[in-house]
Amino acid sequence: MSEGTAKKEEKPRKFQAIRGTRDLLPPETALWNRVEQTAHEVFATFGFGEIRLPLFEETELFARGVGGDTDIVSKEMYSFVDGPSNLPDPTDQFTIGAFVETIVQAYRKGEIPKTDANSTAIEMLKKAFADFAEETQRQPRGFVQGVPDLQKYFSTFYSAVYFASVVSRGEAVSLRPEATASVCRAYIENNMQQLPQPVKLYCIGPMFRRERPQKGRYRQFYQIDAEVLEAVRKEVASGEWRVASKELAKDAAVDAEVIEMVMTLFDKLELQGVQLAINSIGDRNCRPMYVELLRAALLKVKDKLGPDSQRRIETNPLRVLDSKLESEQGIIAKLPRIADHLCEECAAHYAAVKHQLEMRGVIYRENWRLVRGLDYYMRTTFEITAKGLGSQNAVCGGGRYDGLVELLGGPPTKGIGFAIGEDRLILSLQESGKTKAEQGRDIYIAWMGEKAYTTAIRAAKNLRNAGFTVELPPVEQKFGKALGQADKLGARFALILGDNEVTSGEWTLKTLADGKQEKLRESDLVEHLKKQL
Ligand code: ATP
Ligand code: MG
Repeated sequence: MSEGTAKKEEKPRKFQAIRGTRDLLPPETALWNRVEQTAHEVFATFGFGEIRLPLFEETELFARGVGGDTDIVSKEMYSFVDGPSNLPDPTDQFTIGAFVETIVQAYRKGEIPKTDANSTAIEMLKKAFADFAEETQRQPRGFVQGVPDLQKYFSTFYSAVYFASVVSRGEAVSLRPEATASVCRAYIENNMQQLPQPVKLYCIGPMFRRERPQKGRYRQFYQIDAEVLEAVRKEVASGEWRVASKELAKDAAVDAEVIEMVMTLFDKLELQGVQLAINSIGDRNCRPMYVELLRAALLKVKDKLGPDSQRRIETNPLRVLDSKLESEQGIIAKLPRIADHLCEECAAHYAAVKHQLEMRGVIYRENWRLVRGLDYYMRTTFEITAKGLGSQNAVCGGGRYDGLVELLGGPPTKGIGFAIGEDRLILSLQESGKTKAEQGRDIYIAWMGEKAYTTAIRAAKNLRNAGFTVELPPVEQKFGKALGQADKLGARFALILGDNEVTSGEWTLKTLADGKQEKLRESDLVEHLKKQL
């Protein structure tokens, strides 16, 4: 290596944000804040309270809550072992001893899972390592090929390495790919079934999925998520039709109100080209029969389908309906539709949801191909698209998921919710110019001279207290330069403070747009500006 390249390598390295993540910068963050503030306000008017959740949870929660055979869980999660870090390397003959010692200590202190399985694994590891240690003693110093017991040496070593790999070094955790499972976990853990029902919660924050980054698709993205959870009363569980039909009407009203809420938010934000699509995907009673019907129909046209859809005939025929492949569209159009195969209850519920939406003036389209592949999703599903997003045009997805809380170890509970993709919502607002003026400064204080500086600091404090955005330069500048700076920052006014102004008590206020100057007394300044800004 030449000296030149050696020097180059010493240069501090430049870091970049991880692929699929990005910085949100001002002034764009002002738009993010406006969106979130509007969500806080609108959701509060519907009686929703904010929940703040951990960003990581047990992997198992997502595997159950999102579904083990979904893309999200099978390949998109950021998972890691939450245990002691920097453990000695157990696959190295010289450090495996230190590894065993550290693991034994960590187990004793409860830093790694205290399970029966782990206790057994550690005992086996200790024994295997003892055998290896004994074998090491027997070897002459320095290895020579062909030493008779080398084989035994390595077999004891690899058996210790094997048991080291069996020991659980911590809990399997994942960054959350979505919020619904966590909300259900929190509902159960905090006994929220004892609160007045239903419980209405929302949360705003980042989600993580290891997808291929593109416009509107990131690995760290943001969701605005809302969920309504309601403990199922005993009378309802009894399944009597009179009670059941009342319940169906109530569920339909809840579904429609949740949809109305997100549409209200989009309306307040003036999101353009909003289209709501709804569907019913039946329930445990009627969906399995429909899925079989669909599978049979798909098998008849199997040869004409692409490899993905062919595979899904077996694994999850509903997802074939999701296909965007041009060549499959004609075939899919002729497949049986779930609306024609809903059971009496699901049909009644779906009709009630549509009626409820109409009563609320919410415009929808029906899309029989809108499905969710997970067992506990039932009846209502919906998706909202907006303008300016290309093929990633879904800004919100939602649905009913009665039974999920039970699946996560809680009491019988109904649920409905949605998740808004905040990144896409912002993109769409930007594309249609609904971003409002970016934040400039109200007042730039151009000061010159020590005496003026003291006055300038006092003026800045009073103006900020009155709520104005003030830029106070930290060093003296010539007035010309100061005014140029004020212009660059988009200030509306420049307050000019020099020796003359301080002595006379008459301050100069310059309107930057037209260069108009006025003389004002300090005591009149705030009132005067309030009238203009
Ligand atoms: P898509 O079909 O676009 O992948 P999805 O079905 O995976 O969406 P959901 O899990 O229902 O989406 O999440 C709700 C919303 O979150 C989506 O409608 C979308 O706006 C947003 N979203 C999902 N994944 C991403 C991502 N990787 N980057 C940005 N936004 C996302
Ligand atoms: Mg996706």
